[in-house]
Amino acid sequence: MFGAITVEEKKFLLKPMNCPFHIEMYNARKWSYRDLPLRWAELGTVYRYEKPGVLHGLMRVRGFTQDDAHHFVAQENMEDELVWIINFCVHMLTSFGFTDYNVFLSTMPEKAIGDKEDWDRAEDGLRAALDKAGLDYEVDEGGGAFYGPKIDIQIKDAIGRGWQCSTIQFDFSLPERFDLSYIDSSGQQKRPYMIHRALLGSIERFFGVLIEHYAGNFPLWLAPTQVKVLPITDSVNDYAAELTKKLKENNFRAELDDRSEKVGAKIRDAEIFKVPYMFVIGAREAESGQVSVRRHGEGDIGTMSLDDALAMLIAEEKSKGITDEKK
Ligand SMILES: [Zn+2]
Repeated sequence: MFGAITVEEKKFLLKPMNCPFHIEMYNARKWSYRDLPLRWAELGTVYRYEKPGVLHGLMRVRGFTQDDAHHFVAQENMEDELVWIINFCVHMLTSFGFTDYNVFLSTMPEKAIGDKEDWDRAEDGLRAALDKAGLDYEVDEGGGAFYGPKIDIQIKDAIGRGWQCSTIQFDFSLPERFDLSYIDSSGQQKRPYMIHRALLGSIERFFGVLIEHYAGNFPLWLAPTQVKVLPITDSVNDYAAELTKKLKENNFRAELDDRSEKVGAKIRDAEIFKVPYMFVIGAREAESGQVSVRRHGEGDIGTMSLDDALAMLIAEEKSKGITDEKK
């Protein structure tokens, strides 16, 4: 599993997946049916020796991070667990603004391990879970991995391109091979099912897709800089610095632009960087303790107290920019 490769005369061992480590953890002690399901997640780094010609931005890289998890579940609870995972998956994708996706159920390939009966049961479980979650899907006959059937979710970005991200994979092979077990309610030793799942897939790739999807114009909760504070004259720099501090105290990623530039230039720069909010501060705002608020792409949205501005930002951040019709 850990093949050695030589790159530029140096020897490397690649870790291509995270699964074996969770399995070792599982096998480090005994489990009862009361402990299940176990859901172990990690942001695990994995490596693939992609040829230089196919490396592509964040989309295809040699080292990446999977939001990887393994669920160890009693066979009779498999369907409930799958529904739980699918709902979690949809919640994650929706939160990032992806409401358009294609779901594929991949079934038993010609070369497969395990009994046909087990496969049928697992495929029925996946089907039933998709139905319960209310998702439409296409069946990819024979497209499953040799070790089990799977659900793949392909998200569509703003311009309709499809990207494979989420995957939920059933596994008959590893529980057998590593002799995983738990004790059921009647004291019998049983074999658990194992489900591999990644919701975002490769974090690097997901963020590549996300940047393309929003064309850099992120919703407030994701914007690298959320608010730029723009003093009109040097004389209000202190008040502007105070405001920036208050924004940071409220956990906003705020920056002060106190360069001796005209405010028009500061606004233009903030617009180019697609910063969602600009707080423009003049003598009037400093005197009255208010802020004049601009929204990226919309312009001036009015003068208000800092408390009101904060309440507005907090509500928007909480909504993740998802409007009701998208929910
Ligand atoms: Zn895995």
